[in-house]
Amino acid sequence: MISNQSPQALNDTVVANGYCVGCGACAVPEQSPFKIVMDDYGQYQSTLKDPSVFATTQNDYEKLCPFGSGAPNEDEIANQHFSESCEHNNQVGYYNGVFAGHVTEGKFREQGSSGGMGTWVLNELLEKRLVDYVVHVKSEKADQDLSNIPFKYQVSETLEETQQGGKSRYYPIELSEVLKIIRSQPGRYAIVGLPCFIKSVRLLQAQDPILAERIQYCVGLVCGHLKSAHYAQSLAWQMGIAPQEFESIDFRVKDPAQPANRYSTYAKGSYGEKVVPTNQLIGTDWGAGAFKYKACDFCDDVFAETADVVLGDAWLPEYVQDSHGTNVVVTRNQHIRQLIVNARTEGRLEMDDLGVEKAVQSQDAGLRHRKVAIGYRLYCEKISGTWVPTKRADPANKLKPRYEMKRQRLRTELRSLSHKSFLSAKRNGDITSYLDALKPVYSRYSSQGRSFFRRVLSFGKRKIKGCFQF
Ligand SMILES: Cc1cc2nc3c(=O)[nH]c(=O)nc-3n(C[C@H](O)[C@H](O)[C@H](O)COP(=O)(O)OP(=O)(O)OC[C@H]3O[C@@H](n4cnc5c(N)ncnc54)[C@H](O)[C@@H]3O)c2cc1C
Repeated sequence: MISNQSPQALNDTVVANGYCVGCGACAVPEQSPFKIVMDDYGQYQSTLKDPSVFATTQNDYEKLCPFGSGAPNEDEIANQHFSESCEHNNQVGYYNGVFAGHVTEGKFREQGSSGGMGTWVLNELLEKRLVDYVVHVKSEKADQDLSNIPFKYQVSETLEETQQGGKSRYYPIELSEVLKIIRSQPGRYAIVGLPCFIKSVRLLQAQDPILAERIQYCVGLVCGHLKSAHYAQSLAWQMGIAPQEFESIDFRVKDPAQPANRYSTYAKGSYGEKVVPTNQLIGTDWGAGAFKYKACDFCDDVFAETADVVLGDAWLPEYVQDSHGTNVVVTRNQHIRQLIVNARTEGRLEMDDLGVEKAVQSQDAGLRHRKVAIGYRLYCEKISGTWVPTKRADPANKLKPRYEMKRQRLRTELRSLSHKSFLSAKRNGDITSYLDALKPVYSRYSSQGRSFFRRVLSFGKRKIKGCFQF
């Protein structure tokens, strides 16, 4: 079992320096000294219940945390699971199948954010009796304890319940509650999660034999970054629904008249509901990174490299025009690859063999930000004299082209400004102070972006592939 040692070290490094992504792994061990709370900025964060009691410096808790000093990195974890049966690509990680396509049976595609494969894989694992339960993120009806929490991890065991978990939730979620349920309820589980969350599950499994035995499949989502709860509130507020009235949101409403990356946002408040094209709302340019967790800028995993399968959007010119949505799918587990190949033969999926280079292209912007520019962000943090997590990339004081360094600094400024200015707007009950704070910095950032693309185009060195909207 996991021992209850060294929480102080984790608290003093990851948590104190803002690298906690709120996944909840550290709160899972029995009698953990950590609990997960939502902070003023709308982010789940780990907090020590009583710091004075746990002032030891041993390593176990650090080894549970995806940003912890003692934890193995994504390559080391993935090696243990996939190295014998898969090929490796340094952007995507291990793979034994790379596809692009969508679900043709049922309502998976209609009810999903992209091609519907996220829910389909979970559903297929249940249907083929490879698992007894699936663990995914669904709407949570507000109640006394959970007021204003629209989404949370939940366990489903029927196909109907699984279907209700479709759609991307760009919203904080945490694992500790649901992993405790898995511990207390025997069975075989599949769990879906963002790359750092799946890494946490793997780290927990390395220390907890019950979780290792019960969680049989990890389904990853391709990830640009996670948003705070204020992202959802900021969209709804721009649509006329103030935070205190906000009830629910759909971040990905497909518009049949538009390409897949031109989706809309639906928000519901106590007095009405509205749908607005997402790109008309401030803060929705994903490249700019408003409301991003700081931790996400220090994660170098886009393709959930420790998951058995990972699903994202095929942001490629040949697929993006189809408003119904198309997935990029990378498999690492032979059973899941076979489920997909069989269903394709049966006509239940429409899947092209994509090739790993195309999968890389489909996430071009995200990979450059996370795998290349992370070195510069690590360097910037390091020269400020604070603790930084150990990543697969080293700190680097240069980034090419030169103006990319300024873009990175503006992204960091936008991240921090969005959190602070929205909190103050909420406190004042007036969204204009948030919008007025963000607009000039975003304008500087996007003009950098334009000149960046102009330069790239004028030299004819590269085609613009993919896009910034996830
Ligand atoms: C925060 C976030 C960032 C993302 N960034 C990118 C990106 O940069 N590029 C890209 O191509 N794709 C990204 N995705 C994935 C993309 O939005 C779709 O989720 C993915 O393409 C699957 O779509 P689908 O139609 O196949 O799945 P669906 O059928 O819609 O199913 C989605 C599944 O994901 C689960 N889920 C939803 N939200 C979360 C969450 N926050 N944490 C864990 N599980 C969740 C649902 O419960 C469901 O099981 C991101 C998703 C999230 C949540």
